[in-house]
Amino acid sequence: MELKKINLAGACESRPMVIAGPCSAETEEQTINTARQLHAQGIKIFRAGVWKPRTKPGGFEGNGEPALEWLKEVKKETGMYVSTEVATAKHVELALKYGIDLLWVGARTTADPFAVQEIADTLKGVDIPVLVKNPVNPDLELWIGALERLNNAGITQLGAIHRGFSSYDKKLYRNLPQWHIPIELHRRLPDLPIVCDPSHISGRRDLIAPLCQQAMDLQFSGLIIESHCDPDKAWSDASQQITPEVLALILNNLVVRTTNASTENITALRKQIDEIDMSVLEILAKRMRISREIGQYKKEHDMPILQSKRYDEIISKRVADGKTMSMGEDFLNTIFEAIHAESVRQQMEIMNK
Ligand code: PEP
Ligand code: MN
Repeated sequence: MELKKINLAGACESRPMVIAGPCSAETEEQTINTARQLHAQGIKIFRAGVWKPRTKPGGFEGNGEPALEWLKEVKKETGMYVSTEVATAKHVELALKYGIDLLWVGARTTADPFAVQEIADTLKGVDIPVLVKNPVNPDLELWIGALERLNNAGITQLGAIHRGFSSYDKKLYRNLPQWHIPIELHRRLPDLPIVCDPSHISGRRDLIAPLCQQAMDLQFSGLIIESHCDPDKAWSDASQQITPEVLALILNNLVVRTTNASTENITALRKQIDEIDMSVLEILAKRMRISREIGQYKKEHDMPILQSKRYDEIISKRVADGKTMSMGEDFLNTIFEAIHAESVRQQMEIMNK
């Protein structure tokens, strides 16, 4: 993929590059007020949704073209760069007409290759930064596919936004971070900047600060954070928006560790990690061998592979034990569900032999 650095002078040279603004441009007054306050706090790139993809009909779906006029006004008055979400060819045409500086593709749109292709086709020959949010479902290939469609259309100032992945049962987060997915994206495309969206991951104000810190510790390039002059009265995503003042506080307290510090001191520790990982693999292989023996026994005795009582027992006992060793419940569930799934797969192989 041919990538170039995002070219918004003065706004993205240092880490983190910060994009902030309300979920939606609700009124001219709310848009300009929020922008003024963010500008006063040193924010350089303003965001506001003009077309809002809502889960259910009947909610506020954005003001459309008139709101682009307000963004133009924000740019003129404050000098901030302005950005918005596009989902169709028409959105792209209008955004370009009003001088929007950066576009992003929303999570629902990334999941739809036809829509992404339509956006890419409309952007042919236009040199503008485009950030692609991860698709709502945890599908790395779909995310990369969307980036490739834009890149094939000649868009080189590309970036990704990690906004978490939806799940059926809502837990702590509105959208599960599943950090390993953006980490793998970075491994696959090391030159692609990745921006974290703690607002849509968390869905709640109190988790914005720790998520920002986590993103910095994981070497993300930037942050996109929803900020509103009067968050409680926001017309969309009220529970996750913060005032420009709180945003500045969070940003000032961020610890941004540099990547070029010497790694010599941790080399020895890394070596230990490598060895431990090898032991983990060996132990897992041993567990699988035993599983296969059980599979053989089940085959000979005409028993079904999946014994759900045993499965429930394993998961709940392992999770409980693991928790006493200071590991998180989600992690433990994920790891034992995966181990169990692999055991079942291996037993199926035996059955079908
Ligand atoms: C947004 O950024 O306001 C938005 C709609 O985000 P997402 O596509 O991540 O849901
Ligand atoms: Mn939002």
